Amino acid sequence: MDIRNVIIIGSGPAGWTAAIYAARAELKPLLFEGAEPGGQLMTTTEVENYPGFEMGIQGPDLMSVMRKQAKRFNAEIISEKVESVDLKTSPFKVVAKGVEYFAHTIIISTGASAKRLGLESEKKLYGHGVSACATCDGFFFKGKNVIVVGGGDSAMEESLFLTRFAEKVFIVCRKDAFRASKIMQDRVMKHPKIEVIWNSAIDEILGVDIGKVTGVSLKDTVTSVLREMPIDGVFAAIGHEPNVSLFAGVIEVDEKGYLKTVPGSTRTNIPGVFASGDVQDFKFRQAITAAGSGCMAALEAEKYIAELEHE
Ligand code: NDP
Repeated sequence: MDIRNVIIIGSGPAGWTAAIYAARAELKPLLFEGAEPGGQLMTTTEVENYPGFEMGIQGPDLMSVMRKQAKRFNAEIISEKVESVDLKTSPFKVVAKGVEYFAHTIIISTGASAKRLGLESEKKLYGHGVSACATCDGFFFKGKNVIVVGGGDSAMEESLFLTRFAEKVFIVCRKDAFRASKIMQDRVMKHPKIEVIWNSAIDEILGVDIGKVTGVSLKDTVTSVLREMPIDGVFAAIGHEPNVSLFAGVIEVDEKGYLKTVPGSTRTNIPGVFASGDVQDFKFRQAITAAGSGCMAALEAEKYIAELEHE
């Protein structure tokens, strides 16, 4: 049986950093890129706060250089999605495209994915005016009117980006205040193309009958009064949820559903299994903190393997 030192699941900043460190430590890591290679940064535009890039860098470019850096040290990359894992056996087993792989340690860096509004009409009109990614789909809304739902930094960023194409961008916020950072709020509030609709939520997206978004039914979250509003596109930017389904019932999660790690460490409840990046971090969720925890995971995996060898 071919038993690897370390298998890394996921290819965002946490996964790539873990791969770079593990590869430089000569652990010959194997990394599965997953369903969304590069993770959330692939749908981001300018990253201005990743240290080392004075003038900023595009999210996909950052992921591309991290991937190349991991390859330079001979990290092995498989561009597949992991179908299942068995963390109760020793060595651990990972299955992708029907093929079984074994390893002494696993680093989980599966990240988090954008949340959906959860409406039936949203599902039906997804890709027909409904999107969760302005960078991917903004171009299709040239000269149109769009709604962005949310009040965090993502909503601010998506709205500002959409002003490049759209005639008008409405932000629908369910409270009377944003949660976003002050600098992003300021940019939004000053923008002539952006208008905020406070204390409102989308009750239904209209246009299912003709197969494209024609408007929304908005609910006032204070009075519950409904009103219809014509619109061409709806972008949800309401946060994320961790990608933990592969590990359900095996790896302990916290009250928000994120993988639980020992404070100050990336250790999970299973010895030899480490978690890094957004899948275990509800609080910071930054590319740099994800990369930092990927580094920690690789160092902890290295130490764990050294101890196994010693035994
Ligand atoms: P957040 O969790 O920060 O914000 C989510 C927003 O969506 C909140 O305003 C929330 O409202 C609202 N919301 C949640 N669920 C619903 C729903 N079902 N219907 C309507 N509204 C809803 O998520 P973000 O993705 O914005 O940000 C995540 C993290 O990433 C943050 O730490 C942020 O700072 C960071 N980030 C940084 C960026 C940057 O610096 N350039 C860019 C993007 C993100 P409520 O407040 O009422 O709960």
